[in-house]
Amino acid sequence: MRYSRLFGKTQREIPSDAETISHQLLLRSGMIAQLTAGVYSFMPLAWRSIQKIENIIRQEMNKAGCQELAMPVLQPVEIWQQSGREAPFGQTLFHLKDRKDRNLVLGPTHEEVITDLASRYIQSYRDLPQRLYQIQAKFRDEPRPRGGLIRVREFIMKDMYSFDASPEGLDDSYQTMKQAYESVYRRCGLESMVIDADSGAIGGKASHEFMIVAESGEDSIIYCPKCSYAANAEKAVFKKKTLPKETLKDLEEVATPGQKAISDVARFLAVKPENTLKAVFYMADGKFVIAVIRGDLDINEIKLKNLLKCNDLRLAEDGEVKAAGVVAGSASPVGLKNILIVADDSVENGSNFVAGANKDGFHLKNVNCGRDFRADKMADIALAAEGSACPFCDGTFASKRGVEVGHIFKLGTFLSERFGANFTDAEGVSHPIIMGCYGMGVGRLLAAAIEQNHDEKGIIWPMPIAPYQVYICGLFLDNPVVRESAEKIYKELEAKSIEVLFDDRELTAGVKFNDADLLGIPLRLTISPRNLDKGGVEFKLRRNKESELVPLDSIVERVIATIKSESDL
Ligand SMILES: [Zn+2]
Repeated sequence: MRYSRLFGKTQREIPSDAETISHQLLLRSGMIAQLTAGVYSFMPLAWRSIQKIENIIRQEMNKAGCQELAMPVLQPVEIWQQSGREAPFGQTLFHLKDRKDRNLVLGPTHEEVITDLASRYIQSYRDLPQRLYQIQAKFRDEPRPRGGLIRVREFIMKDMYSFDASPEGLDDSYQTMKQAYESVYRRCGLESMVIDADSGAIGGKASHEFMIVAESGEDSIIYCPKCSYAANAEKAVFKKKTLPKETLKDLEEVATPGQKAISDVARFLAVKPENTLKAVFYMADGKFVIAVIRGDLDINEIKLKNLLKCNDLRLAEDGEVKAAGVVAGSASPVGLKNILIVADDSVENGSNFVAGANKDGFHLKNVNCGRDFRADKMADIALAAEGSACPFCDGTFASKRGVEVGHIFKLGTFLSERFGANFTDAEGVSHPIIMGCYGMGVGRLLAAAIEQNHDEKGIIWPMPIAPYQVYICGLFLDNPVVRESAEKIYKELEAKSIEVLFDDRELTAGVKFNDADLLGIPLRLTISPRNLDKGGVEFKLRRNKESELVPLDSIVERVIATIKSESDL
């Protein structure tokens, strides 16, 4: 490809609304173009990378015994009502009406469609197992599209669905997919991590997420360096500090003028944060909830949301707190009536806590769960953090950041039961088919690859998913010797099926080098009068600082060998 013909232009300015590195670099390199919030065109360079990623995915899926199909984006809302997932997906689901006033949705995922297919085409245990996938555009009406390709409203996803006759069969499908996912990321040249995850609106029992490790990633990964435990911070369990059980003392009201934050109250009363209880107020599907946790811990809103089984959870606003009759800064579950109280199990780990008195400027000493208040619901709703104790060994948690690029779920039978997707076993007895579902974001993977591989100058593509493998930078192309050598190398490489972007533009070396660094093509060849005088071509890997002069007559061989070694992952 000649750069002068390439559709898409690089730009020097960092777009003001682009917060993430990948968003900035994808826009600056001219690889994506926004149409409207969370909706992008993939320009030719990006599309080449997307197709490479898709090919790797296809190969690994087919190797894992999956068959590719294509299901409709346009889906009748009734199948979402049948699955019971219209409400959990809520406003994320794109609704539309056809000319006959029938309600349709744009598919955010395809469990409904495929389970309906399974109910029609799977009858007997002999029809099982089945593993079916597609690579297709999906639609989700995100409340806050952001991060370029990280959180979008239209996105490309690989979704796979497994159908098995037994829990062991599901285990096999699940493990096979886990390995296939790891192979995909490895073959893309990316460092990934598999972690325990929350299953959220998709539902189901076990689930794992795949993360591309990147300092700039939006997800927090908690892991134990001593054992193999790793989880999304949303889900991570940990060992809470055990406090001794003391003899219960009498409740005592103390004045705490101006002390509102739990850390201030603890300091004022000379107790440790772990000897206090803090209360946080939420609105769960419009209902006021007070969540109580030991003062040394924080609430994990995902765990809280799961415990409450609500679709929408947010912090309560000042007006809502007042309307509930709760005194912010001095709130506690003691003496509250007609308010749902949810507690972390840490409130029973310890005794004689300091808590609010529900009276401005006062707190209570010696508050004890059970005696002084009761929780309507109690479970682990605490947030794990770096430094938390591992519950599986005596290690201490560390954390990393990452970008989620895949999510797999053991769904079980709840969908097949709703769709009547059954099979008969060898004895003729009917059972619901056991399902799993396996998603992989393709555009997200492209963005995550950039989050992991870049420097201050631009993208550093791993060879297997780079839009082009080689960047030929011709300098002083009006010099016939340079022009002839550059054209010759370009044609020879193309003849060997090497993917080359030949910068044939009449521009200064500075501009060309900047663009080469920004686009991040893994291998750069600079052909200039000075290099030719020395008898060669400057050969430079994008990720290295150093370059070397390679003789003209061996440059093609050298390029081919380098690409081979960088592609065999
Ligand atoms: Zn551990």
